[in-house]
Amino acid sequence: HDTTSPNPLSSTSSNPPLGQTAPGPRMNATFVTLARNSDVWEISRSIRQVEDRFNHAHNYDWVFLNDADFDDTFVKVTSALTSGRTRYGKIDSEHWGFPSFIDQEKARKVREDMHERKIIYGDSVSYRHMCRYESGFFFRHKLMQEYEWYWRVEPSIELFCDIKYDPFKFMADNKKKYSFVLSLYEYVETIPTLWDSVKGFMKAHPEHIVADNSLAFLSDDGGESYNHCHFWSNFEVGNLDWLRSPAYVDYFNHLDRDGGFFYERWGDAPVHSIAAGLMLKKEEIHFFNDIAYYHVPFTHCPTGEQLRLDNKCHCNPRDNFDWNGYSCTKRFFEVNKMSLPEGYEKEQ
Ligand code: GDP
Ligand code: MN
Repeated sequence: HDTTSPNPLSSTSSNPPLGQTAPGPRMNATFVTLARNSDVWEISRSIRQVEDRFNHAHNYDWVFLNDADFDDTFVKVTSALTSGRTRYGKIDSEHWGFPSFIDQEKARKVREDMHERKIIYGDSVSYRHMCRYESGFFFRHKLMQEYEWYWRVEPSIELFCDIKYDPFKFMADNKKKYSFVLSLYEYVETIPTLWDSVKGFMKAHPEHIVADNSLAFLSDDGGESYNHCHFWSNFEVGNLDWLRSPAYVDYFNHLDRDGGFFYERWGDAPVHSIAAGLMLKKEEIHFFNDIAYYHVPFTHCPTGEQLRLDNKCHCNPRDNFDWNGYSCTKRFFEVNKMSLPEGYEKEQ
C-alpha cells in the first residue's frame, strides 16, 4: 500500500521526471505531511504556497502519511501540485492505536470529562492518535527512513515571503537540529502531569540530558515546574537522525508508558519542544525569523521592513505574534542572549 507516484508527465506538465531534480546541490531531505483524504483541498493550498515560495527551485520530495489509504483524488491533486517526487504511505496499525498497556475505560472517562469541560479536541480519539504519532513515530515510517531532514507541512498554512536559500542546508551548515517560527504557552488542562513524566525521564536517563540545554526556556524554577512554553510543531524543519536517536526514543517511550497521550491529551508540540529543550544544545535550536508563516490563529511576520521588501512578503507586520505577551519567543531570545530583530518594538 505504500506507493511512490511519479509526477504526471503530460505535455502540459512542467514537472521533472522521477529522479530528475533541480540543478545544484540538494540535501537528503523531504517535506512530510500527515493528512486525511478529506484534507486534500486544505493541503493543496499549503503545497501551492510552499512550491511558489521555495520548492519550485529545489524539487524536494514530499511524503504523505495517513492512517487510511489515500484515495485517487488525493494522490492526483497533490502529485500535480508538487515539483518533486511524491510518496504516499499508510501508517502501521501498531503506530496508530491504543497500546496494550492503556486502560480503555480510564481513557474513555477522561474523554467524557474533557468533553464536559469543553477542552479543545478533549473528546477526540483520533486527535490523540495523531499527537502520539507525530510525537513518536512519523520519523520511523518506512518512507522516512532514507532521509536525514524533514520539513513538516500542515493543511491551510500560509507562507508570506520568498525563501531564497535552502533551510535544510542552513540547518546542516549551522549544526541545527530543530527549528520553529512560532512559540506559545500550552493549554494547561491538556498536560497536567507531562512535566512529572519528564522529571521521571530525567531521573531515569540523566545521560540524555545535555549540559548546555534550554531548560530556562521551559522552566522558571530550574526544572521544578514547566512554564508551558513550547515551539508550535505544525511548522518544523528538523533532523530525523536526532528523532531516531536512542535519547529521543528513550524519552518518547518513557512518556508513552506514563499514558498521558490517552489519560490526558498531550500534544506533539510540547513533547517535541521539551525534548529539544533538554536534549539539544541551545545553539542547535533555530528560530527562522525570515520564514513568514500562518497557521490558524497565529502569524509570524518579520518586523524588519527591509527583510519583508527583499523577500516580497505579503503579511502585515501588525499581525505578528512574536512580541505579544502570549508568545514565548522573547524568552527564547533571552535564553540565547540574542538581540531582538529589527522593528520588534513597533509591533509589540
Ligand atoms: P490542529 O492544527 O492542532 O488543529 O490539528 P489538525 O487538525 O491540523 O491536525 C494536525 C495534522 O494531523 C494535520 O496535518 C492533519 O491533516 C493531521 N490529522 C489530524 N487528524 C488526523 C487523522 O485522524 N488522520 C490523519 N491521517 N491525519 C490526521
Ligand atoms: Mn493544523
